[in-house]
Amino acid sequence: MSEQAKKEVLLKVNHVSKRFTSKGVCVRAVTDVSFEVNKGETIGIVGESGCGKTTLGRCIVRAIEASEGEVLYQTLAGETVDFLKVDKQQMKKIRKEIQMIFQDPYSSLDPRMTVVDIIAEPLKANYPKMPKEERERLVMDIAKKVGLNTTYLKRYPHAFSGGQRQRIGIARALILKPQIIVCDEAVSALDVSIQAQIINLLRDLQREMQLTYIFISHDLSVVEHISDKVGVMYLGKLVEYGETEKLFASPRHPYTEALLSAVPVADPDVQMDRIPLEGEIPNPANPPSGCYFHARCRYCTEKCCTETPEWREVDGRMVACHRADELSLRGFDYSQEA
Ligand code: SF4
Repeated sequence: MSEQAKKEVLLKVNHVSKRFTSKGVCVRAVTDVSFEVNKGETIGIVGESGCGKTTLGRCIVRAIEASEGEVLYQTLAGETVDFLKVDKQQMKKIRKEIQMIFQDPYSSLDPRMTVVDIIAEPLKANYPKMPKEERERLVMDIAKKVGLNTTYLKRYPHAFSGGQRQRIGIARALILKPQIIVCDEAVSALDVSIQAQIINLLRDLQREMQLTYIFISHDLSVVEHISDKVGVMYLGKLVEYGETEKLFASPRHPYTEALLSAVPVADPDVQMDRIPLEGEIPNPANPPSGCYFHARCRYCTEKCCTETPEWREVDGRMVACHRADELSLRGFDYSQEA
């Protein structure tokens, strides 16, 4: 990735919130999330199950409508648009530039369609007049690129393994030549060795096709391998956001510290020193006062229980913790990983 490409902002997520209301109860799934994504970068979004990361990803691609905020996107044509507000006609043009890869390769593929038809489907929808031969040529090209054996493309998804099905999902997302791909737990359902293959494939494709990823995962070791920057979410809010290595080596938020302490190390002789997270994640329909993390935080003070921490820059990253300047927190030990 060149320095120039690094600096080109492709997506600005500004103050995005999502609330769900049911039977008079309002659940804040995502609250006031902001970050920027540069062209060619990978942004990892991590947090425990239920922290709002998938909802955030869905709001960004407009699979669901955000309640508030904007997503400023620089289109391939060079215009900047608020992707959350574009009308149907504009959406038809831009939709293909932002694609999503889903968590479960078993259920995200239609079992009644052959693989060649699954991969070709977005082309049919977006370019209905494209000649069949050209469509098939593009499908073959992308299938080869993602490492699928083109001899078997007339088969149905059930004939493929989990890793191959995820390759089919990636081919379907890439066939329209997007700029951005939101990967929602894209490798979570796969065995560890297959995960590594898919991660390597995503990295190779990123280099080759100048792709930008938003990589949503609960697995910090996966996120660490693929991301340039990481955002940590807790109860619908970003609590820390910054460059991966910096954030992993010296976290400034106690929740990041606790998550990092639970990352397994591939060495049976290394003693895990896990920081236990006491208690349950609070109910997002009735979030706690002050810092949302205070009931589970071992550094909590009186102020934390009543005052919401400001989202501010500390040590070259953004963080929401009253004590971010003074605490000396334990990071991920890179020497153990090596
Ligand atoms: Fe812990 Fe207080 Fe920081 Fe919240 S603001 S993470 S409770 S120290």
